[in-house]
Amino acid sequence: MVGGGFAGIDVARGLVEALPEGWEVVLYSRENHFVFTPLLSEVVSASVTPLHVVWPLRQMARGAIVRTAEVVEVDVRARQIVHRGPAGLEREGYDELVLCPGLDARLDLVPGLSESAHPLKTLADAISLRNRLILQLERAEATHSDRERARLLSVCVIGGGFTGVETAASIAELFARCSRYYSSLATSSSRLTLVNRGDALLQQLPARLTEAAHRSLDERGIDVRLGVGVERLDPDGLHLDDGSVIEAGLVVSAAGSEPTALVSNSDLPIERGRIRVTPEMVVSGLDGVWALGDCAAVPNARDGRVSPPLAQFATRQATQLVRNVAGSIAGRPAAPFRYRSQGMFASLGHHDAVGQAFGLKVSGVPASILWHGIYWGKMPSVPRRVQIALDWAWSAIFPWAPVAIAGPPARRLSGPDEPTERS
Ligand SMILES: Cc1cc2nc3c(=O)[nH]c(=O)nc-3n(C[C@H](O)[C@H](O)[C@H](O)COP(=O)(O)OP(=O)(O)OC[C@H]3O[C@@H](n4cnc5c(N)ncnc54)[C@H](O)[C@@H]3O)c2cc1C
Repeated sequence: MVGGGFAGIDVARGLVEALPEGWEVVLYSRENHFVFTPLLSEVVSASVTPLHVVWPLRQMARGAIVRTAEVVEVDVRARQIVHRGPAGLEREGYDELVLCPGLDARLDLVPGLSESAHPLKTLADAISLRNRLILQLERAEATHSDRERARLLSVCVIGGGFTGVETAASIAELFARCSRYYSSLATSSSRLTLVNRGDALLQQLPARLTEAAHRSLDERGIDVRLGVGVERLDPDGLHLDDGSVIEAGLVVSAAGSEPTALVSNSDLPIERGRIRVTPEMVVSGLDGVWALGDCAAVPNARDGRVSPPLAQFATRQATQLVRNVAGSIAGRPAAPFRYRSQGMFASLGHHDAVGQAFGLKVSGVPASILWHGIYWGKMPSVPRRVQIALDWAWSAIFPWAPVAIAGPPARRLSGPDEPTERS
C-alpha cells in the first residue's frame, strides 16, 4: 500500500482484519503520521495545537507493517514497488497493490508562485504559514516605513474553494486575536485579499450559502475579488489579469492540486490528473493494482459522476475497497463504489460556517456548531477529542500572544554567507 492518509489508514486497518492468515499488509507513507486536514486551517488561526491534528501511523494501523519511505516507482510488470530507503533505492514485491498517495498542492499555475507562495496541504505547511504570518506582524512592528508596514500586513489568498475560503477566514481570525498585542494591526489595518477566478466562492454549495460566506468574509474586512485571475507573482507583488497589482507581503495559494511525482512519473493511466480506475477501483487494465482517494478518478455508481477529492469519499471508498480486495483473494466478484454525500461544510472562523447536510442548509453559529460537532465526532481517538475540545475552549476563553516556532537554522547564525569575527 502507498499512502497513509484518510484512504490509506482505513484500508490498512480494514485489510489487517479482512485478509486471511499468511497475508501481510505493508503500508508505505512519506510521513510517519496521519493528518486530519479539515483542522489545518485551525492550526493557522492558532485555535488548536499543531500536534493535536496528527496521529502516528503505527498506532492507527496496528497489525500493518509501517514503512516511512517515499515510493518512487511502481513496476507493475515485476509486481514490485521501488522506495527510497536509507541505503538508496530498494525494491519490494507485492501480490496486491493499493495506491492512495493523494494529490500534491499545485504551485506552477503562474510564474513566481512556486518560488514565493505558501501552500496549505500538510501539517508542515500549516505551521510554516502560521510562523510566517507572525513574523510578518513582528516585522511590521519593527519597521519605521509606513509603506513597508502596509506591504507586510497585506496578505493575499488565491483560490475561492473550500481551502482558500477557510484559509482566508483563519488568517483574519489570527489577525483579530493578535490585534491587542500588535499596535501596527490596531493602527494601520491589515489588508487581506481573496482572489478567485470563478464568479462565486465555494461553487459546490448552493447560491444562498456562497452568498452568506461572501458576506461573512466582507464583514471581517476581507477584500474578495471574484472573476479575476492571477498572472504572475514577482517582487512588485501579485499581478492580476484586470491590470491591478496587489503589493502583498505574503501570498497563499489554494488554487489547485496535481498528481504526486509517483503517479505523474508512472505509466499508470491518467484521467484529468487522477488515476483512471473502474467503479470497483481496479486501475484500468492492471489486474491486482487498486487506487482510491484523491489520487484516483473513482466513478460513483450512485450518480455516475467521478468522486470529488474529499475525505468523506476517500474513507467510504476504503471500506468498499477492503471488501473488494478480500473478495478477489477469495474468488468473489468485486462491487462498485456507491455513496451518497453527507454534505459539505466550510468553516469561516470560530463562530461562523456555512454548509449543507441531509438537505439542511445552514450558516452562521448553527453551522459552526455543526461543523465543530461533525469533525469532532470524526476524529480517530477519544483522548484526542478531549485535547481538541480543550484547545477550542482554551483559545475561546484565554487571550494569548502568539509565538513563531521556527527561526533561522542555527548554522546560519555563523554560516558562510554571514561572516563572523573569526572568518
Ligand atoms: C486544508 C485542507 C482542508 C480539507 N478539508 C476537508 C474537509 O473539511 N472535508 C473533506 O471531506 N475533505 C477535506 N479535505 C480533503 C481531504 O484532505 C482529502 O480528500 C483526503 O485527505 C484524501 O485522502 P487520501 O488518503 O486520498 O490522501 P491524503 O490524505 O492526501 O494522503 C496521502 C498520503 O500519501 C502519502 N504519499 C504521497 N506520495 C507518496 C509516495 N510517493 N510514497 C509514500 N507516501 C506517499 C502522503 O504523504 C500522505 O500521507 C481538505 C484538504 C485540505 C488540504
